[in-house]
Amino acid sequence: MKQRIVILGSASGMPSAQRSSSSFILETDSQSYLFDAGEGTSTSILRYNIDYDKINTIFISHMHPDHCVGLFSLIQMMYLLNREKSLEIYLPEESITGVKNFLNTLYLFPEKLSFDLYFYTIKPGLFFEDSYLKVKAYPNLHLAENEKIMRTPKVKRHQEIEKEKLSNKMESFSFEIAFKNKKVVYSGDVGGLDDLKMIIHNADILITECMHLDIERLLDLIKKSKVKSTLFTHIPAELEKEKEGITKKANDLKIKNFQFAFDGLSLLL
Ligand SMILES: [Zn+2]
Ligand SMILES: [Zn+2]
Repeated sequence: MKQRIVILGSASGMPSAQRSSSSFILETDSQSYLFDAGEGTSTSILRYNIDYDKINTIFISHMHPDHCVGLFSLIQMMYLLNREKSLEIYLPEESITGVKNFLNTLYLFPEKLSFDLYFYTIKPGLFFEDSYLKVKAYPNLHLAENEKIMRTPKVKRHQEIEKEKLSNKMESFSFEIAFKNKKVVYSGDVGGLDDLKMIIHNADILITECMHLDIERLLDLIKKSKVKSTLFTHIPAELEKEKEGITKKANDLKIKNFQFAFDGLSLLL
């Protein structure tokens, strides 16, 4: 079995006919790790022949639906397939009670499942370590977007509502994943370049969203940070027609191994 990353969903918050929502899987010899689980994750797992039984651990960067609603269908699928191994789910602290309640609402009672579910809180810094992987979380400012680069004006109003209604700030994380001496960085959804500046230096693989960022400045930062391989994901429909120009700019800057993600894209590790 190859050790690889497979993109399961590369759409932004707006559902797409061509893409599932945010998710990728990191597969090792014996087990796999899922990062985010937007809508369509289970379908992609089946479509791209992923061994779902190897998924032992799931990390959810934040609770916007395009990063987490697929979690529930995935648990349902595992239940229907009589999974026996336990499943670990790492979530923002603010969500854990709500997720447990929602599972009950969905008739996915823990007592009914054929496997144990364990929930853990994502904490800033190193929060996960096993014999394959180390994962560090970096809180990002997903609600503090620079207005200039937001593509839809109503987003700002939504941010204000979210800030007021949630008892706390939205908890949102980027992840630094250490695997076989490789540094893989996943942006989650960020608030701007400042969220990436500190963590992408010398990354072997950068999987970054490209919706809440000024693309030109992002490319400059990637070049400056000596990133060895870059994947743009979380791709909004408006960006599809700019892909060629952005790729040209990346090539002009001599950014190594730059590409736009698509569902099913596989990167060997
Ligand atoms: Zn998103
Ligand atoms: Zn988001």
